Amino acid sequence: MKRFILLLFAAAMALSLGGCAETAETKYFYAMDTLMELQLYGDDGTVAALCEERVRELEGKMSVTLEESEIATLNREGRAKVSEDTLAVLQAGLKVSRVSDGAFCLSLYPASRLWGFTEEEQRVPKREELNTAAALIDDGQITLNDGEVSIKPGMALDLGGVAKGYAADCLDALLEESGIDHAFLSLGGNVWVRGGKPDGSAWRVGIADPMGGEYIGIVELTEGSVVTSGGYQRNFTHEGETYHHILDPQTLYPAKSGLKSATVVAKESAYADGLSTALFVLGEEQALALQKARGDFECILITEDSRVVVSDGLKERFTLHNTAYDYEA
Ligand code: AMP
Ligand code: MG
Repeated sequence: MKRFILLLFAAAMALSLGGCAETAETKYFYAMDTLMELQLYGDDGTVAALCEERVRELEGKMSVTLEESEIATLNREGRAKVSEDTLAVLQAGLKVSRVSDGAFCLSLYPASRLWGFTEEEQRVPKREELNTAAALIDDGQITLNDGEVSIKPGMALDLGGVAKGYAADCLDALLEESGIDHAFLSLGGNVWVRGGKPDGSAWRVGIADPMGGEYIGIVELTEGSVVTSGGYQRNFTHEGETYHHILDPQTLYPAKSGLKSATVVAKESAYADGLSTALFVLGEEQALALQKARGDFECILITEDSRVVVSDGLKERFTLHNTAYDYEA
């Protein structure tokens, strides 16, 4: 766990590249099982505190491990009245589930619980246990009706693949209300920027090296979200095999699609968050096909064989930094 926190910290540092004349209020805190960094220009700490409070409120509603959360209640009772926030996250997740043809799946919790990724102890489940879980996994059985959510008996949802992105979208709204025009947020692998830097230049967002080396490259962005999913972010080793936290809904095993990480750049962070998880599951070919077909996001894929693949619409804004990787501009 400690190694994981340090890794994220290193990533967050690398992500906020480039100095700035006007100083920012910078705040770090640990929430949603990850390290969060906020850089708010023109804040005296008041807005940063409100942001932390808002993230903790969302965590309280959506964490699968907090017994009283709306999601834990839904998972236990099969139905629950939920807040607008939880409803919005469910809708965002279901959209990505549809768009990715099920590579992103909200109802994986019966399987991910067996792997223990939300617990202290991880383990490799038996195939029979996963087969039993498979019968309970179907996003088509999630019903949203007038603020009430229901699922079939035994089903359980996990919003971990989309909740941090939604949190970034909520902080966007809060910063708008609070008159903070320039900001850089890093919520685990989710970076979100607002208003360019105070000197008028674009933010330079570093893409982490999945192998822990120097950042791969830089994306220049004024406004929007850059979200990375990768097996390197959370994993454990058992009998010499490494198992990571992003499951392929078809096998219920950690996805093995030939990617080390998938990064999505999009306006809306919840969408980018869900999609980055989905692209990691889909692999290079299908991820690029989806990007072309939708056209409402851009992506950077880092392959197992150390290539960096950038979608056409992003190439002008991407610069390679780490020459241990191959990149054809
Ligand atoms: P992220 O870090 O955004 O890629 O999300 C990973 C988290 O999403 C995991 O820790 C699980 O909680 C959940 N998850 C894992 N695999 C999937 C999947 N295929 N679809 C949706 N959520 C997933
Ligand atoms: Mg995600």
